[in-house]
Amino acid sequence: MSVLDQNIEKLNGYLRRFKETGIQNRIAGVDCTGAGGVFQTSSPVDKSIICDVARGDASDIDVAAKAAADAFPIWRDMPALERRKILLRVADGIEARAEEIALCECWDTGQTIRFMSKAALRGAENFRYFADQIVQARDGQHLQSPTLMNITARVPIGPVGVITPWNTPFMLSTWKIAPALASGCTVVHKPAEDSPLTARLLVEIAEEAGLPPGVLNTVNGYGHDAGKRLTEHPAIKAIAFVGESATGSMITKQGADTLKRMHLELGGKNPVIVFDDADLDRALDAVIFMIYSINGERCTSSSRLLIQDTVREKFEAMLIERVNNIKVGHPLDPATEIGPLVTKTHFDKVVSYFDIAKQDGATVAAGGEVVGEEGYFVRPTLFTNASNKMRIAQEEIFGPVLTSIPFTTEEEALEMANDTQYGLTGYVWTNDLTRALRFTDKLEAGMIWVNSENVRHLPTPFGGVKSSGIGRDGGDWSFDFYMEQKHIGFARGQHKIMRLGAQ
Ligand code: NAD
Repeated sequence: MSVLDQNIEKLNGYLRRFKETGIQNRIAGVDCTGAGGVFQTSSPVDKSIICDVARGDASDIDVAAKAAADAFPIWRDMPALERRKILLRVADGIEARAEEIALCECWDTGQTIRFMSKAALRGAENFRYFADQIVQARDGQHLQSPTLMNITARVPIGPVGVITPWNTPFMLSTWKIAPALASGCTVVHKPAEDSPLTARLLVEIAEEAGLPPGVLNTVNGYGHDAGKRLTEHPAIKAIAFVGESATGSMITKQGADTLKRMHLELGGKNPVIVFDDADLDRALDAVIFMIYSINGERCTSSSRLLIQDTVREKFEAMLIERVNNIKVGHPLDPATEIGPLVTKTHFDKVVSYFDIAKQDGATVAAGGEVVGEEGYFVRPTLFTNASNKMRIAQEEIFGPVLTSIPFTTEEEALEMANDTQYGLTGYVWTNDLTRALRFTDKLEAGMIWVNSENVRHLPTPFGGVKSSGIGRDGGDWSFDFYMEQKHIGFARGQHKIMRLGAQ
């Protein structure tokens, strides 16, 4: 039996329970139906229905927010080492069920097993990393002044809402939920309606690991009702959101009345700038990896290639050859490099750019076509002869689609790199150190890699500028978001206190 067939057989085993019972919401450790009835999740591989999903609405969010508020003192006050143990057991549980998570994720989203098996393990790493910092998370500083011994302390902010998108949903959820729990917050999670399977697995694993009921609650549903209520709920003190820039703007408005703290990780149209002095072979590998892995459905993807005109012809020729060689296929086949796009809506959006590119005068140098009719597959696509003003250079396509734009001088490259509403990541390829320093200094992006693809290191800050977001994840930045800073001043002696009304 081929590995693909083995994976399909295993997947069917894992899906059986979802098909039999559907996916319930999980509130205070109890399965709950949704007040909004049910919706269905389907697979982009063959458009088949996977299962029913409880459709939570505003009233379900109210129940979940109350559960999170009730559980907050229990979780906040649990000794740090006990909380650490539980979170480490969550990491163990994720590792133990990594295959199930990866196979379900692939089937629900169209992501390929070659990337999702690692994404499941990265979810475990997120729990392990933040668990290991629990003990120090509340520590503060002491800042002595002439009259006072000032100390600071961090305390968890309270119940928080986590709203996640459909691209690599399991990993992204753990990225928010792990630091929130490590901070001592309780969580209401609203997963993306297009990929509910693995959020259910996460809450099960967390409860099996000993997370008290109500500390993590999962309410499925749509953004405009369940999601909206979560951002408006007075008991929810902060929202950690990953999704589109337009949605980020909307939820900021929704959260205004309750002065909600917001952490927004949003879209990108990230440039990769390749100068003619770069190691072109390594640059090629990185350019291809950063746009065609994870189906191009990746916020940090390098979707704009700025290529110096002196090497443009050579580089684009190498690119076309490799792009045409990328294997599109069944996501559970380990040889597959690109699977189907997540939904029909998203597929239609990505495909629409094939015509937009031509209408705007660009060349479709590779791909630009759909593959079969069974699922939502497209060929990896490369647009050349493009300018930075075109829609294919300005709009986030969020698929395996790269736009190549030539430049002559460093100044021109910088101007084009920054000429976008977004500012999530940038990738610079040059062997000129001073140029790299100059360029990265002026590049408008929250994260920049020089002579490298995106390699995530959890202690470093992750986040964007401009329309790509507000706030940072990683290291202590995560604790700063999920916790409040407190200052307490102790008099060191009998300093003079002004005496009003005492003559
Ligand atoms: P989306 O904004 O459509 O949806 C994200 C989530 O928000 C979903 O759970 C959705 O139900 C919810 N939502 C929608 N409207 C809402 C509302 N009014 N109130 C509350 N919640 C609401 O995004 P998507 O299409 O699922 O994901 C793709 C986007 O996510 C891309 O733009 C991508 O760049 C971005 N993304 C960013 C990062 C990052 O770290 N910066 C990471 C991954 C994805």
